[in-house]
Amino acid sequence: GATIGILGGGQLGRMLCVAASRLGFRTHVYEPAGAPPAGQVANALTTAGYDDTAALDAFAASVDVITYEFENIPTEALDRLQALRPIRPGREALRVSQDRLTEKTFLTDLGLKTAPFADVTDQASLIAALATIGTPAILKTRRLGYDGKGQARIAAPDQAEAALAQMNGAPAILEGFVQFQYEVSVIAARGADGAVACFDPGENIHRMGTLRTTTVPARLSTRQATDAVLLAAQVLNALDYVGVMGVELFVTPQGLLVNEVAPRVHNSGHWTQNGCVIDQFEQHVRAVAGWPLGDGSRYADVQMENLIGDDMDRLPDLAREADTAIHLYGKSEVKAGRKMGHVNRIMRG
Ligand code: ATP
Ligand code: MG
Ligand code: MG
Repeated sequence: GATIGILGGGQLGRMLCVAASRLGFRTHVYEPAGAPPAGQVANALTTAGYDDTAALDAFAASVDVITYEFENIPTEALDRLQALRPIRPGREALRVSQDRLTEKTFLTDLGLKTAPFADVTDQASLIAALATIGTPAILKTRRLGYDGKGQARIAAPDQAEAALAQMNGAPAILEGFVQFQYEVSVIAARGADGAVACFDPGENIHRMGTLRTTTVPARLSTRQATDAVLLAAQVLNALDYVGVMGVELFVTPQGLLVNEVAPRVHNSGHWTQNGCVIDQFEQHVRAVAGWPLGDGSRYADVQMENLIGDDMDRLPDLAREADTAIHLYGKSEVKAGRKMGHVNRIMRG
């Protein structure tokens, strides 16, 4: 059978390996850090940096197609791999999503709405941006941020200097703070044949910048749910995308604003593992392997809860809960803020 190469060995890579294995594929994970969660379930693991050209070449030679579980893969490594094997989703999706300024510009060029934003390179440009956007606002590093890292909230203009110091000199973007009613996300998929399929939008609750729970169905009107799905399809088509993408949205009285897009399977799509016949991981594998997309229609109401750090102390109780599926990532060390696993609760009546 074919072998799927996966860049990144975290929990997303691990769950992709499981899904790929169920469809009879072999998996080869490439990950710089030792003992990654995906390494326990992959058929092969390469532990090497993204600057190790020999390891990259050997990895590419051993697989039929390459995908990834995180968006911050160095460009040089991608160039090298792409010369040898197809990378799905393609480079354009990575280029757009690796940089928040490029991403927001791409989205607004498509006619989609985002929070007001401005490029910030120094104190003068931050002051100018605050003058137009106002407060409250959020300053974010343009690149490499996740789980709310690399962000500083600015409640009043006198906090500008402290916020800028937190960027450590990295290029940044200022965003107006959106007074959203809810946060939702659409997990969308596009096949190699151009077919698009979206899972039902999920409603997300964050704590300190990290996703806590996703609940389906989200509290959206039919009109809002349709808008969300159409908007996600527009993004996929514009990128000639192949694979699963997470599209994070703010719901406001003025309509849906796009927060960010993730060119990969997404934490807010984990509910699909127990709420759909085909989950986001299988859907991604299908797309990447050139299979037709599967039926992702939802057959249950589900709440996904992340198990972060000390949440693991509740494991004995969770294991006794009815209608609760436990998914653990095999991480040996519990750390504060570290995603250790999640549970999917089926909600009946
Ligand atoms: P992820 O782990 O989802 O990649 P991230 O580090 O890229 O997170 P964002 O998604 O930009 O960060 O922000 C994290 C959360 O902070 C959002 O889900 C939202 O709750 C809040 N947030 C971010 N930007 C804004 C904004 N402009 N207005 C209001 N809330 C915001
Ligand atoms: Mg992000
Ligand atoms: Mg986010």
